[in-house]
Amino acid sequence: MLDATSPATARLEIRNLERQFGGQRVVRGISLQLQAGQVTCLLGPSGCGKSTTLRIIAGVDQQDEGEIWIDGQMVAGPGVFVPPEKRHIGLMFQDFALFPHLSVADNVAFGLKGSRTEKRLRVQELLEKVGLLRFIDKFPHELSGGEQQRVALARALAPRPSIMLMDEPFSGLDNRLRDGIRDETLTLLKEEGTAVVLVTHEPEEAMRMADEIALMRDGYIVQRGAPYNVYNAPVDKKAAAFFSDIN
Ligand code: ADP
Ligand code: MG
Repeated sequence: MLDATSPATARLEIRNLERQFGGQRVVRGISLQLQAGQVTCLLGPSGCGKSTTLRIIAGVDQQDEGEIWIDGQMVAGPGVFVPPEKRHIGLMFQDFALFPHLSVADNVAFGLKGSRTEKRLRVQELLEKVGLLRFIDKFPHELSGGEQQRVALARALAPRPSIMLMDEPFSGLDNRLRDGIRDETLTLLKEEGTAVVLVTHEPEEAMRMADEIALMRDGYIVQRGAPYNVYNAPVDKKAAAFFSDIN
């Protein structure tokens, strides 16, 4: 019998990830496991190593030590490096722009394989889900920031990635739009059953979106748990202070 939490069944397993820059240990022994449909937030102040961890998972940076497994396959580890495009991941970053010269439809279809009809159906399905089917033949510059972000989400999800990696994806949007887009994004991610690693420095965003929070400081995970538990039983004074500006 396989253990439900073995790397053979977890969507993502990270073991003892280490990364240094010029002798400074930026990621120190990070371990994580993620199941299908689960949203884990890497939460912590600026500079604590969130983006570096995410970049290593994506394969755009490499760890000094440790292993990464996706769907039971080692994608990074001693002597192993699977390039980003072969990791079954979707990426969404604040500044991860749409291709300006491609229509909304072609942006969403960009990473898709299959017949024209299959691609068209998937593009329509996703644009419908993000409420933008009417913009299918428009170009990015004809859309608002929030609309572009929803197209970027549709594009990232189109190839049915095992894992979505999102780095502060909503921080470029104004406050008025942000809550709505967070909720819509979460609904869609849950419908698609994707496992998600969401990086944020905003406790409020983590509380709203995460199934599990991994609270980071100085390259470590200092506390892990359900949002309610991390919020109500902070591990130390610093953790309590970090959450204290939510109301
Ligand atoms: P966060 O996303 O939590 O704000 P980062 O992972 O971006 O933090 O950065 C963590 C630390 O690593 C910071 O001190 C940052 O300056 C440093 N760092 C990140 N990338 C590099 C790099 N390519 N070269 C040197 N230092 C880096
Ligand atoms: Mg960052």
